[in-house]
Amino acid sequence: MTKVIYLDNAATTPVDPAVFEEMRTYFSLEFGNPMTAGHSSLGDAALAAVEKARSEVAALVGANPAQIAFTSGGTESDNWAIKGAVERLALDRGIRKAQVVTTAIEHAAVLGSVATMQRRGFATSIVRVGQNGILDPEDLRRAIRPETVLVSVMHANNETGTIQPVAEAARIAHERGALLHVDAVQTAGHVPVDVAALGADFLSISAHKFGGPKGVGALFARDMRNLFPLLDGGGQEQGARGSTHNVPGIVGLGAAARLAGEGLPGEQRRLAALRDHLHEMIAQRAGRIRANGDMKRRLPQNLNIRIDGVDNEPLLMAMSQAGVIASGCSACTAGKAPVSHVLLAIGLSPGEARSSIRLSLGTQTTEEDIERAAGIIAELIRLLRATKG
Ligand code: PLP
Repeated sequence: MTKVIYLDNAATTPVDPAVFEEMRTYFSLEFGNPMTAGHSSLGDAALAAVEKARSEVAALVGANPAQIAFTSGGTESDNWAIKGAVERLALDRGIRKAQVVTTAIEHAAVLGSVATMQRRGFATSIVRVGQNGILDPEDLRRAIRPETVLVSVMHANNETGTIQPVAEAARIAHERGALLHVDAVQTAGHVPVDVAALGADFLSISAHKFGGPKGVGALFARDMRNLFPLLDGGGQEQGARGSTHNVPGIVGLGAAARLAGEGLPGEQRRLAALRDHLHEMIAQRAGRIRANGDMKRRLPQNLNIRIDGVDNEPLLMAMSQAGVIASGCSACTAGKAPVSHVLLAIGLSPGEARSSIRLSLGTQTTEEDIERAAGIIAELIRLLRATKG
């Protein structure tokens, strides 16, 4: 069997074997519950492992360990930051109809949470982005009102990879007394993420996007007191989030954070060079291809292209059969949303959005993979254009 070339790392990444090794003992040998620490040696070991992971995650984003709470992943972190902070801040500040502001290109976890807040009677505002896939901070400034308590702006978009002006968004939000939540699910472990430099008050991360396991993530909160719990329970995470700790998952998140942090600078350069090479080769061999979103202010591992005269579904299916895995819009909405809300928001027509594919590279991607993938993709584009007529 020929090796599958996996170019869908923005959807999920394989667990790094070194991460898996570190997790292994916490399933059935060191299986203790951290909440039993103090009267159980197994609980003590589990607690020590969880606290080590907390320090590793904190180091990746420049936070103090006490500012990190473990969650079930990026979706929960986003839901918690928005629902927990808006309600808490509205109550603390005595604002009857507090407002939350976000952008049109956020992940469904953010947009859905904002829609829930609207249903609960809060005010909401969704700010558009430019055709380059990047938020204009002036548009954000115009959306903020005296009742705005929270602004949520993603660090980089999961489909186009475009990096948002988060530090400027933080300045604008803070000038008006609002706090800033940053969805850093696509950036943590890939490009430098520093909560102080970004001005983030809350920041979401997810382990499976950078070599860790699925179903575990973290939320950074500059001050945990600005959050109501999303999950009420048995007092875990200093009472901020109930639910027995996912100890192996948390250990995996910590290990992935440490390893990603160590490899970061070299890996960014390597992936940007491979990504640019892939782009050039597909463009040269197939022609009539355009990039979606700014090519400079972009994650090094992301390429999103629209291909004239080709529908993405048959192309992606044929690529998968030929051993190259990529995606159309985001994995999170696959099969549900006919077109990407992100590509529509940056001004593409539904037809253009349906002829777009996202290729996202990862630590396992080699130069040989890129050469082979470019050949296969260009050939399939030519074939599909020919059959279309
Ligand atoms: N936010 C962004 C930008 C994402 O890309 C994703 C996953 O695709 C999520 C949030 C959700 O993260 P998780 O899969 O850990 O729930």
